[in-house]
Amino acid sequence: VLIAFEGGEGAGKSTQVRRLQEWLADEGLTARASFEPGATPPGAGIRSIVLDRAQVGIAPRAEALLYAADRAQHVHEVLRPALDAGEVVITDRFIDSSLAYQGAGRTIPLDDVRMLSRWAAQGLRPDLTVLLDLPPEVGLARARGRAAADRLESESLEFHQRVRRTFQELAEADPDRYLVLDARRSPDELAAAIRVRVAELLSG
Ligand code: C5P
Repeated sequence: VLIAFEGGEGAGKSTQVRRLQEWLADEGLTARASFEPGATPPGAGIRSIVLDRAQVGIAPRAEALLYAADRAQHVHEVLRPALDAGEVVITDRFIDSSLAYQGAGRTIPLDDVRMLSRWAAQGLRPDLTVLLDLPPEVGLARARGRAAADRLESESLEFHQRVRRTFQELAEADPDRYLVLDARRSPDELAAAIRVRVAELLSG
């Protein structure tokens, strides 16, 4: 079972990924938590390129290929083997992040990004995607305290609004596969709602 977490900056994805993993472990399941970009050794190199502010001149298509390369390595080295071993696998970001950031954000046609991402992921798709949705103003204010915050300022509010809108549209187009939550709710409430949905998924 593959569960993806998606959302904009400061949505609290990493907190909820950790809490879900802890809960699954308490339930006696082997749960693996991973993330994009950068979860593998080659991916860590790619992460430093795409997130390095000195690289802001990077072309949208080059950026899309780098994220796709990170994803290809992630699926090959981490996600596929863990799924084959029967683990419950959680990833902090997956294909929808590319559709939102490289597609809507950098204005590359969504179908191109989708094709590239699916190829990179060998067709792997999440069984459930949890979207932690919140207005970018709120998320950016939350994220501002963090180390990489200066990079966030390089994108316009409109960029982040396109990203948010695309996540919402992806969820609306496939309601059975998405759990959309208002990320302004408390971490405890969010964790509880996620547990209910994951319990359903695992029993179904
Ligand atoms: O989830 P995390 O905060 O580690 O993501 C790091 C940054 O990478 C995000 O702020 C986002 O702007 C960027 N990103 C991106 N395209 C992706 C995934 C992440 O631009 N496909």
